[in-house]
Amino acid sequence: MKFNTKTIHGGQQHDPSTGAVMPPIYQTSTYAQSSPGKHKGYIYSRAANPTRTALENAFAAIENGTHGFAFSSGLSAIDCVLKMLNPGDEVIAGDDLYGGTYRMFTRMFSKYGLKFHLVDMNSIENVTNSISDKTKLIWVETPTNPLMKIADIEEITKAVKAVNPAILVAVDNTFATPYLQQPLSLGVDIVMHSATKYLGGHSDLLMGALMVNDAKLAEELHFIQFAGGAIAGPMDSFLALRGVKTLHIRMQRHCENGRAVAAYLQNHPKVKEVYYPGLENHPNHEVAKKQMKDFGGMVSFKLKDESQQAAFTFLENTHVFTLAESLGGVESLVNHPATMTHASIPEPERLKIGITDSLIRLSVGIEDIEDLLKDLEQALNI
Ligand SMILES: *Cc1c(COP(=O)(O)O)cnc(C)c1O
Repeated sequence: MKFNTKTIHGGQQHDPSTGAVMPPIYQTSTYAQSSPGKHKGYIYSRAANPTRTALENAFAAIENGTHGFAFSSGLSAIDCVLKMLNPGDEVIAGDDLYGGTYRMFTRMFSKYGLKFHLVDMNSIENVTNSISDKTKLIWVETPTNPLMKIADIEEITKAVKAVNPAILVAVDNTFATPYLQQPLSLGVDIVMHSATKYLGGHSDLLMGALMVNDAKLAEELHFIQFAGGAIAGPMDSFLALRGVKTLHIRMQRHCENGRAVAAYLQNHPKVKEVYYPGLENHPNHEVAKKQMKDFGGMVSFKLKDESQQAAFTFLENTHVFTLAESLGGVESLVNHPATMTHASIPEPERLKIGITDSLIRLSVGIEDIEDLLKDLEQALNI
């Protein structure tokens, strides 16, 4: 199956008992047994629930995986991956991570003896030079949140596996989605999503996803998901599955609108810099062109007036763009990373990587582009 067909049909079956085209919301915690151990494949919903199974099969299909796992949030999916490691193990990750990922690495798992090396993944040597015999996991985010840096997934994976094939490579594919890039097909071991964002697509749920194409890895992750318990519920699973079915057409429009917004901002006299991998002057444009089908709907930019007040004036005056955390829904959102999504990163770290007070992040939705540009224009001119 090709991608657009997979988002709708991948891993799906009509409900065997009624023929229902969409899986029912199996709002149940447990399942009747006819004799101890005699059941129909479902025992207790922490282990598996049919609505979640349908979604997990869809998750696997869209990322070219064999197994998918649905969690209660994106962070609980990352938590599951890290729990495969042992005290003393080392992780190499990008230096421009989602704020919550950074917080989990530095403030939760450091405490349990994991060591994190945060490096600029623009350079593959930065990654390979940090590998030691304790390195167990490489954590890649591309494009990064919020600076839209691009890491070369295939080259990083090749370089890491050449040093030690046992080191796992994981990609947080939240920003790109499998519509734009499919990391498992580039040699990566684990794909992670905050399905809260584009996969769900409607800002109506929190969810995380993991996808793999290795049975042993799948078994390990399922054990941690089951034993740790951070599973997605049946109602959210139903909503996320409904979202996945339109991922391809939503993404097509997000990309079109994202490109138009980036081009508009780049020519605006009040804008200092635009961060969008589709722009030819983006430092990693060539890598983005190679590994991504298009460039997505996330656009960051800095105002020429670098005061926090100038950014706040803009943020207070958009009407179609809603000021809110999160991204990837059908509606356009605007966000101030320094004080909102990335406030958990200490200021010196933030400034070092470029998350200044003048940085604004847009999640460009799928509204009419004329209305989006008009909204930006009026807010920039206040
Ligand atoms: C939102 C986000 C997460 C965390 O996901 P939650 O669903 O909010 O727990 C992780 N990575 C990226 C890139 C995100 O945007």
